[in-house]
Amino acid sequence: MFGLSAEELRFRDEVHGFVEAEFPRDLSRRLAAGGNPTRQEQVDWHRVLHGKGWAVPHWPREWGGGNLDQRERFILSVVLEEYPALTALSMNVNLCGPVIAQFGTRAQKEKFLPRLANLDDWWAQGFSEPESGSDLASLRTRAEIKGDRFVINGTKTWTTHAQHADWIFVLARTNPEAKPQLGISFLLVPMDAPGLSVHPIKLIEGGHEVNQCFFASVEIPRENLVGEINRGWECAKFLLMNERFSSVRVGAANERLRRLKQIAANEVKGGRPLAEDPFFGRKIAAMEAQTKAHELITLRLLEDDEQRGPEDPPNPLSSLLKLSATETRQEVTHLLAEVAGPAASRLSLSIEEDRDEFTPEWAGMATAQYLNYRKLSIFGGTTEIQKTILAKSVLGL
Ligand SMILES: Cc1cc2nc3c(=O)[nH]c(=O)nc-3n(C[C@H](O)[C@H](O)[C@H](O)COP(=O)(O)OP(=O)(O)OC[C@H]3O[C@@H](n4cnc5c(N)ncnc54)[C@H](O)[C@@H]3O)c2cc1C
Repeated sequence: MFGLSAEELRFRDEVHGFVEAEFPRDLSRRLAAGGNPTRQEQVDWHRVLHGKGWAVPHWPREWGGGNLDQRERFILSVVLEEYPALTALSMNVNLCGPVIAQFGTRAQKEKFLPRLANLDDWWAQGFSEPESGSDLASLRTRAEIKGDRFVINGTKTWTTHAQHADWIFVLARTNPEAKPQLGISFLLVPMDAPGLSVHPIKLIEGGHEVNQCFFASVEIPRENLVGEINRGWECAKFLLMNERFSSVRVGAANERLRRLKQIAANEVKGGRPLAEDPFFGRKIAAMEAQTKAHELITLRLLEDDEQRGPEDPPNPLSSLLKLSATETRQEVTHLLAEVAGPAASRLSLSIEEDRDEFTPEWAGMATAQYLNYRKLSIFGGTTEIQKTILAKSVLGL
C-alpha cells in the first residue's frame, strides 16, 4: 500500500496479526482457489469482526461505528482481501445499514441496526426486475396501501443470496400516477412473509449466487416503510452510491495478481517458468501497473470523500472507481485462465486444497472465476452506464 504513516503501518500489522490468529486456514485456502464460504462461515467471521469493532466502523458511533478513520478502513479491507479472508457482509454493512441509519425512524434504527451489524439478520437487495435494471426507475413491483399495511405484488430478479436471507429491502411503486422517480418507496420485507417465494438462477459457471423473487400479495406493516412514502428514490440513490464505492476491492485485485505471479513462477512452459517468458512477463507487468493505478485512484477518491460534507453532491468520480475495479479484477482473472491454457476448458466449482502450482483442478476453478467475474461489469451499475455518467458529469459531453 502506498504512503502509509508509521501509525498506519502499525495498524496494518495489527490487522494482519488478528487475521492470522483468527481466520480459519482451510477457508482461506478455499478462497484463494476461487471457492466460496458457506452461509455459516460468513456469519461466524462477520461476528468475529464485529466483536473487534471492525464490521461497521463507518457507521455512526451510536450504532457501533466511528472507531476507524477512512484510511484505516481502507487498510482493514485491503489486508483482509489480500490474506485472503472474508470481509463483513457488504449487503448489511454497506448497503442496507447506512440507509436505515440515514433515513430510518428511531424505532427502525433500534430494531434493525444492531442485528444488521452483528449479522443476526442476513439482508438481500430487491431493486432489479426482469425489465428494470439500468433504468431502475421504471420498476413495476407495486405496493398498495390497505389500512395499516402495504400489499406487494411483482417480481425482483438477480437477487444476490436471497436463498440465505432473512430480510429483503425492496423498491416498490406506491404511486403509479406520479413521475417514475416520485412514486417509489423503500420497504423492508421479511423473507418468510406469506406469498414471497425464491427461485434460483444459475450463473454462467453453474454457481448459485442469484435468484428471482416473486411477491404474490405479500403484506407488511406500514411501519416497514423507510423514509417518506413515494420518496424511496432518495434512499436508492444514496445506496447505489455506496454500492459503487464498496466494489473497489483493491486487496482482492492484489491477491489475484500475487496468485498469478506464483503460478507463473512455478509453471514451466517451453523449458522455462512462464514468468520468464517475455511475452507473458509483459502482461504481468502491465497488470501490476494497472493494480497500482487502481489503488492510487481509490486513495485519491477517499481523500476527496473525507473533505465532502453530507450535503455535498456525490462525487461522480466514484464511477471511475467502479470502472477501474471492474477492469482490473476482470483482467487478472483473464490472465489466470490464460495460464491454465487448454486445461481451462474443464470447469470445476469446488476444490479441496489450494496449492501454488498448476493442477487441472485449479485450472477448472480459474475458468469458473473468469466466467463468474463477467458479472462485475453488470451489477452495481453497468460499465456503459458508468461511462455515460463520466462523460456527462466529468467531461461535460
Ligand atoms: C451477479 C449479479 C448479481 C446481482 N445482484 C443484484 C441484487 O442483489 N439485487 C438487485 O436488485 N440487482 C442485482 N443485480 C442486477 C443488476 O443491478 C442489473 O443486472 C444491472 O443493473 C443491469 O440491469 P439489466 O440486467 O436489466 O440490464 P439492462 O439495463 O437491460 O442492460 C443491458 C445492456 O444494455 C446496456 N444499457 C442499458 N441502458 C443503457 C444506456 N442508457 N446507455 C448505454 N447502455 C445501456 C447495459 O450497459 C447492458 O450492457 C445483479 C446482477 C448480477 C449480474
